[in-house]
Amino acid sequence: GPRPDEDLLAGLNQPQREAVTYRGQALLIVAGAGSGKTSVLTRRIASLLRNKEAWPSQILAITFTNKAAGEMRERVQQLVGDSSQGMWISTFHSACVRILRREAEQFGFTRSFTIYDSGDSRALIKRLVKEHEADAYGLTPAATQGRISKLKNELADAESYARQANMSDPAERVFVDVFNDYQRELQRANAFDFDDLIGQTVYLFRAFPQVADVYRRRFRHILVDEYQDTNHAQYALIHELTRPPGADSQPIAASGGMMIFEPEPSAEDAASLTVVGDSDQSIYAFRGADIRNISEFERDYTGAKVVMLEQNYRSTQNILSAANAVISHNFDRKDKKLWTDVGAGEKIIGFTGYSQHDEAQFVADEVDTLRRGGIDYSQMAVFYRTNSQSRALEEIFIRSAVPYKIMGGTKFYERAEIKDALAYLVAVSNPADEMAMRRIINRPRRGIGDVTIETISRYAQDQQITFRDALANSSALSVGPKIQTAIAHLDSVLAQATDLMLPASGELAPPTAVAEGLQLLLGKTGYTDALRASRDPQDEARVENLDELVAVAREFARNNPEGTVIDFLAEVALVSDADDLEDASGSVSLMTMHTAKGLEYDAVFVTGVEEDLIPHRISAGEPGGPQEERRLFYVGITRARKRLYLSLAMTRAQFGEVTVAMPSRFLQEIPPELLHWRQSPGDVNSRGGTQPRALNARRPGGGFGPSTGSGTGSRYGDDLVPKSTSIEKFANRIPAKVRDNGDLELAPGDRIRHDDFGEGRVDAVTGEGAKRIAHIRFDKVGAKKLLIKIAPIEKL
Ligand code: ATP
Ligand code: MG
Repeated sequence: GPRPDEDLLAGLNQPQREAVTYRGQALLIVAGAGSGKTSVLTRRIASLLRNKEAWPSQILAITFTNKAAGEMRERVQQLVGDSSQGMWISTFHSACVRILRREAEQFGFTRSFTIYDSGDSRALIKRLVKEHEADAYGLTPAATQGRISKLKNELADAESYARQANMSDPAERVFVDVFNDYQRELQRANAFDFDDLIGQTVYLFRAFPQVADVYRRRFRHILVDEYQDTNHAQYALIHELTRPPGADSQPIAASGGMMIFEPEPSAEDAASLTVVGDSDQSIYAFRGADIRNISEFERDYTGAKVVMLEQNYRSTQNILSAANAVISHNFDRKDKKLWTDVGAGEKIIGFTGYSQHDEAQFVADEVDTLRRGGIDYSQMAVFYRTNSQSRALEEIFIRSAVPYKIMGGTKFYERAEIKDALAYLVAVSNPADEMAMRRIINRPRRGIGDVTIETISRYAQDQQITFRDALANSSALSVGPKIQTAIAHLDSVLAQATDLMLPASGELAPPTAVAEGLQLLLGKTGYTDALRASRDPQDEARVENLDELVAVAREFARNNPEGTVIDFLAEVALVSDADDLEDASGSVSLMTMHTAKGLEYDAVFVTGVEEDLIPHRISAGEPGGPQEERRLFYVGITRARKRLYLSLAMTRAQFGEVTVAMPSRFLQEIPPELLHWRQSPGDVNSRGGTQPRALNARRPGGGFGPSTGSGTGSRYGDDLVPKSTSIEKFANRIPAKVRDNGDLELAPGDRIRHDDFGEGRVDAVTGEGAKRIAHIRFDKVGAKKLLIKIAPIEKL
């Protein structure tokens, strides 16, 4: 009869079919963008389930983001129905959290451990750097954090690092000390940082083979998407999981004088491993990702089958040809050419603005045109290299009433009030986490300062109890009566919240407990009231954000009826750039090119295609830097299905400071016949724009091609009055003040105040109209040039 999975194979091309149906130990699918890698992985899972070759619980699939995991789970569910319950489809980090929750007690942690995000670890490292006076050796907190993270991604700890470091160098010694103390503090706080989630799981498996065997027996099919971006620790984790169970076990028992050995484990007992990846899309080398994990797969897994996919199902031929042309400039790569049968499609549109505002206006106008042409907002995306570029886009989008959504949900969780609220939850769930306690102890203000904190800390150390437990003994602390009352009150609120969220009876708390506990904490401590009483309008927004967090907790309860506050905190800690609180439907998505990986849209705008942005300035001097930037650009342009726009600006003002921008070298790598310039760098030049060196001068025969379009010119200056419609609707999204200082009279000698730079004196004013520039000598930060029209300045 027909295969039970026959319908799953319908419409697949031959190599895709092979990738779904191959049943060997190891399978590597290497293929370019949009060739169906993720789809094939999804179908492979469905096929295993449908053919009853695997139980759902035997499947472990790893995706790059939580969002991608959710989509894959949904897709598999559609294909096979309810029989998909119990699969693990998640990111590396989430999978490791699940494993560590079960096994933490094996090695000195408890189930309720906290996850430190990079802000938390930065705070801890900052304290240690200060304690060790490490800055005297040039160790900044940021650099130290980066080094520690890199070492952890290579599975090195302080000890192993010290063995090979030059320890006669005092800078090395102090680094090792900080690293050591950092790790000790994490353990003391019952906390893991992001890198530890992976690294400690590997450690767990290596140190406790019988624990590893539980997972080796459980997961029979392991599948990894975006394999090109795995780092060494992740590689090692997969390696541990795909060893045959029993591989490290000792003879297990002696009975009746006879040693009983487990049967010799054989390679066939190992889980099957499928990885998919594209070395041209490796964009996380800076975080330790190693392309060699792909190129050496066949060596690591002998007998591995390799499948190549070359037909692209996403983009038009023009978009693909541009992508192929760009990426072919990277040396040291296997040449692969993507093709499609959907036809050439529209040409790629290029646009050069006078400023980033002009560029943003072009994007907004074009979004509008596409929308009227029948493309939904949710099918459009705008990419940029750095987050700060979003500001200009947002300003214009708000004015033009274009609904948009910034992908990069982490920002919400970086807000002070959200961190405070979460720290309250941590104080309840993980009493060992002193950093959380220190964060909340005087928020809202309770008159508790550093002296009191040290008193409590010392008392806790003397009594060998946690900081949290020390609060319960407020009467034993040598502090004044007012402070004692404040501490006792905080202790009692924390105790009430603990009863609610983690009942001592061992009973399961009701699903609403997290949301209610959060409200109790924020209410009874007076946190919300303090914000409400403030006259600062920002505090009003903070109250709304806290409401939003309560809503997130409710949503969590709906999706995880048995989830505890501990699970909630883990989920929140693992929100990544591509994940989001809000649903992006009905709005244009704005995101960095890194975040865009794996996604697709009908229309894509890649903005800021300039030297120093893409390739980014900081990558220029690094080995392999420009190549990685080219891959990033390749990722960006291969997200587009039908329409691709590449735009840039001649001048770019960051914090109001004007710099002159040059077209990116990557633009030259695109064959001119694929690109239609609405307004080319040449046009801007001939209009007396500010670009000093025309790029087309470097290119024989006409540079960027003739600009046949009329050119939209700079519309930015004509359209500064906000359109009134729907502005209110988006008002809460206003990221920064929308300015128009067009009429601001400035003369040498005037004093001004700038939002970011403080006060300064005008030295000179040059240029005209929208391009009037003030040369300012700031009292604190020195000389800067500001575009008067948009700089956040006021005359004093
Ligand atoms: P990326 O490299 O960007 O991660 P990918 O290789 O994972 O891309 P997918 O996202 O799986 O590619 O597929 C790209 C698009 O092509 C999707 O819209 C998918 O549904 C579609 N697709 C894949 N295979 C086929 C096929 N055989 N027939 C029709 N459409 C397909
Ligand atoms: Mg994919």
